[in-house]
Amino acid sequence: MEENGSKKTKLQVSAIRNGTVIDHIPARSLFDVITILGLDRIENQITFGTNLDSEKLGKKAIIKVSGKFFENDEINKIALIAPHAKLNIIEEYAVTEKRVVEIPAEITGIVKCFNPKCITNHELVTTRFSVVSKAPVALRCHYCEKITDHKHLQIL
Ligand code: ZN
Repeated sequence: MEENGSKKTKLQVSAIRNGTVIDHIPARSLFDVITILGLDRIENQITFGTNLDSEKLGKKAIIKVSGKFFENDEINKIALIAPHAKLNIIEEYAVTEKRVVEIPAEITGIVKCFNPKCITNHELVTTRFSVVSKAPVALRCHYCEKITDHKHLQIL
């Protein structure tokens, strides 16, 4: 019971042969990451573990997607909610590449505008923001110019 070391943590999520492991996701953001990456709509094998112990994050989540390799702009979208996420690219059970995520300069879709009067909250207009601050995150709406900060960040 007392042995909650990293060995045990590693065993909680099984290995994949080829694909991508997304590590260091804050546990509370796991399902938002799944939504943003569209993992709920693909047919690849996906395993995840959550509420794993992490020195940096307290509780973290890991997602392993078999047979899937993400494009940078695809994966960078999760930087909004998982800025410390790290990707391991796996080939034949070995890590062949490590990648970090970076918030892009512009965010299209994904995030809801914080301003209730914004056109994007009333009409079928895709939200669009420029990133004015990366840590903590602050986004300026292209339409109403209001700032959505990290406290009000809501994933669509
Ligand atoms: Zn707006």
